[in-house]
Amino acid sequence: MVGADSVQFALVVDGWFDGESRQPDGPTTFLVQNGVVADISQGDHAAALAARGLPVERGGYLIPGLVDAHVHLFLDGAPTDAKLRSEHMKQPVEQLAEAARRSARQALAAGVTVVRDAGDRHGINNLIRREAQQVPGSLPMIRSAGLGVKRPKRYGAFMASDVVDENDIIRSIPEMSTINDEIKLILTGIIDFEAGAVTDEPQFTAAEARLVVEVAKECDRSTFAHCSGAKGLAVAVEAGVGSIEHGFFMSREILEVMAAKDIAWTPTFCPVHFQWAHPEAVGWSAQTVGNLRRILDDHAEHLVIARELGVRLLLGTDAGSMGVVHGAAVFDEIDRYVEAGLSLEATLIAATSAARRHFGLPQAVLAKGGPFDAVLLDASPFVEPAALRTPRGVWSAPLCAA
Ligand SMILES: [Zn+2]
Repeated sequence: MVGADSVQFALVVDGWFDGESRQPDGPTTFLVQNGVVADISQGDHAAALAARGLPVERGGYLIPGLVDAHVHLFLDGAPTDAKLRSEHMKQPVEQLAEAARRSARQALAAGVTVVRDAGDRHGINNLIRREAQQVPGSLPMIRSAGLGVKRPKRYGAFMASDVVDENDIIRSIPEMSTINDEIKLILTGIIDFEAGAVTDEPQFTAAEARLVVEVAKECDRSTFAHCSGAKGLAVAVEAGVGSIEHGFFMSREILEVMAAKDIAWTPTFCPVHFQWAHPEAVGWSAQTVGNLRRILDDHAEHLVIARELGVRLLLGTDAGSMGVVHGAAVFDEIDRYVEAGLSLEATLIAATSAARRHFGLPQAVLAKGGPFDAVLLDASPFVEPAALRTPRGVWSAPLCAA
């Protein structure tokens, strides 16, 4: 790939998407200097730039680097056997850290230049974030939630630590804020697919969840809530979390509050879709497969309503979950958005600029003066969607959160 080590290079493409809108078709020349977009000009200026001794790369279509807003780097999504998965988790931390590096490299190769790690019990996400900062361009930029907060003896031990009461929240959130980019709140358990519902009570009351949000805000940190089911969703919106993750069993009423309070949504279709598509991996009955389909259809319907209401949509895969492979999963999640009825443009906004804006990154779109954080494709994905899956070049910007 030209430019990987070049301080200065040019790139001529047939078209590009800046993360928010499709730019006019026709040759466009990008000049990149020290990882920054020094210039963007219409037309093919390769000859003049080559005459100045600049390396020139050519390609079909340029888009911003993709953002996977919900991953667990220390988990490997590929193995689907339950025994293998539980053995993976029992490995020593050094081996899990190696797995996390592999996941991050895999994501970057697929064109994912920013990931938000939604928690691991060893805080390996914070370690890998540091490594990504030390060797710019080698890994995606990592936003890390470190360890989240949960209730003792409740769901989420693989990604969160316990808080017992309000004093504990007031004490532990500032501590977590010194090392985590965001505070992850485990509000509910997982869906009981056999029952086709979320059957447990929320782990926190609205007042407790609001306390987490408020203390985090005082520490300049946003919050994101693992949450599904009507009761948990009601708590999440009342508390005013920064984003709702998963959010299965969504309703129009909840989405209206989310739009009004600017609460983002990361629907993570992938893990449920995998179990629907491969029921044999878990041994689901025909009835449970029916439940999974219903849950996915309901989710898709609400994604469209969310878009209509103007809810800030992020695209996250929950990579590391069973069957949800780091990197590749982002294209499956994109397919789910498009299948639901969103345009590819709206989907790619969720997968690029919306997340960058939500995370407060210095530059949300690909523009002159901003970081050159981009994926080069052979063809326009608006003409050939499959072109997304085989990027020809990936450049990740060595930037930290603002
Ligand atoms: Zn997750």
